[in-house]
Amino acid sequence: MRQADDSPKTNKRLTNLASIAFDKKRFDCYHMRMFKGLLEGLLELISPRTCASCKKRIDAQASIEGLVCLECWDKIKRNTPPFCHCCGRHLDRKKTTSNICPACQRAPSYFDRALSPCVYEGALKTLIHEFKYKNKDYLGPALARLLIDFVKEYDIPMDVFDMVVPMPLSAARLREREFNQSEILSECLAKEFHKTSCQALRRMRYSRPQAELKMEERISNVKADFSAQDNTDLKGKNIILVDDVLTTTATSSEAAKTLKSAGANIVFVLTLAN
Ligand SMILES: [Zn+2]
Ligand SMILES: [Zn+2]
Repeated sequence: MRQADDSPKTNKRLTNLASIAFDKKRFDCYHMRMFKGLLEGLLELISPRTCASCKKRIDAQASIEGLVCLECWDKIKRNTPPFCHCCGRHLDRKKTTSNICPACQRAPSYFDRALSPCVYEGALKTLIHEFKYKNKDYLGPALARLLIDFVKEYDIPMDVFDMVVPMPLSAARLREREFNQSEILSECLAKEFHKTSCQALRRMRYSRPQAELKMEERISNVKADFSAQDNTDLKGKNIILVDDVLTTTATSSEAAKTLKSAGANIVFVLTLAN
């Protein structure tokens, strides 16, 4: 495995992603989405596509899946090593010689390691917002490419992991949003690496979105928020927990704690951005 904290190496594969014409077949996550894709195509005839980030009209041939213009895609800021061995954010070597960033030293997490290909800002922040809050579930497979390419770039040993688990939404939140964005990402990742995406966690209550809260409130907001599903055997399992954004480590840490209480062995957290 390539060490994620190796000296910086160009993340050419990630930046080159923009010029790759994606294989459509890889994105057929569900039949429903295929059907939706057909409808999208019909809509395209009626009203031409605009970029999901900058809203400018785009050429389907020079875009990511006809959804995001190449200019916006190239602007997505990638995380570069060295990474904090806990939260996965870039470690500023001028500020610390430790492999753990000061924030993680103050608040240790229950997961073994978190990793994110990108920084939560700019075009990606807009795309994730559109994906989650504007009901654009069709953006999921394109965004999942960021996770898939990151796993390949850093040789994250997928053979070690038994299953991919999406960060759950509460029932109330799921009713409101109609889909779980993390589940779409989790399914795309699992499919690519021939794993099972398993809804092993349940979210107990409707909590206020973390983004609306202050740091101290965020930590208390997620306490005792999760439970493990009875029908999933987690004993000794190595798990990749997938979410869209690692805002703080509090939510992922609580979810990892629940998985480990149910017997899980290693829990890695993989998010689009941090
Ligand atoms: Zn754009
Ligand atoms: Zn950290």
